[in-house]
Amino acid sequence: MDAAFGEPRNFFTNRYIYLVISQRARGLSLGVNLNPDQVCNFNCVYCEIKRSAGDRDRRVNAKVMSAELRKVLNLVENGQIQGMPCYNSVPEDLLQLREIHLSGDGEPTLCPNFSEVVETVVHLRAMGNLPYYKLVLITNGTGLQEPEVQTGLAHFAATDEIWIKLDAGSQARMELINRSYVPLARILENILALGKRRPIIIQSLFPIFHDQEPTPQDIEDYVQRLVELKQGGAQIAQVQIYSAHRPANSPDCGHLSLKTLSRIAHRVKDAAGLATEVF
Ligand code: SF4
Repeated sequence: MDAAFGEPRNFFTNRYIYLVISQRARGLSLGVNLNPDQVCNFNCVYCEIKRSAGDRDRRVNAKVMSAELRKVLNLVENGQIQGMPCYNSVPEDLLQLREIHLSGDGEPTLCPNFSEVVETVVHLRAMGNLPYYKLVLITNGTGLQEPEVQTGLAHFAATDEIWIKLDAGSQARMELINRSYVPLARILENILALGKRRPIIIQSLFPIFHDQEPTPQDIEDYVQRLVELKQGGAQIAQVQIYSAHRPANSPDCGHLSLKTLSRIAHRVKDAAGLATEVF
């Protein structure tokens, strides 16, 4: 998934927990990697995860993850982070913890002990002394219907957020960009089911691929799916529209101009009446 929007991740010596300074969140974003095995059921053209061979555990070791999380939360809480060479020139307000991302080097809802991870993070948040920060699940939406995931999401507070990827409005476009065997219809069903229960955020990445921008039809298909989701009762709090920032694994993938991204956002606002953010 694409949690950090261009900022490098600092894993310290951890296996699961990393920190980024997020311009978007105006502060620290702490990440939990739920996919130590790097598994994903998408193969997006813009993905920048360097997948390496080797057997890694599918499950997150919750004990290890919890210890790493406590250690990093303590660094932030005690202000020790400011003294570290890589952070000592960073303004103080950018070193406040704003959010914890449940994300990873793959698709987090494929994590077999997803609910255990969420429960551990929620517990540590409740036990700590830091000012309020939210949890954000960043997902491609394919596993939201799984009982394990539903159990985990039940621990989310109303102010926590779920960001769901939707890059395409047609199966053909999805197969071109996300290169997945999962049907678009299933993802739309999952978005609708969850969006009827709580507000969600849609994340849409539009790359240039093989020197081609998304066609007007691609954009209309995409906008139409958002209209249908809204009409069906999904509470879409925001649609984030952006493009590929970091070097992708596929050399044929490039950054779409801000002008085109803004044009897509205007279309979403006009046709679906949804709030958008372009970056
Ligand atoms: S959803 Fe796409 S970008 Fe995210 S990890 Fe999977 S292949 Fe990479």
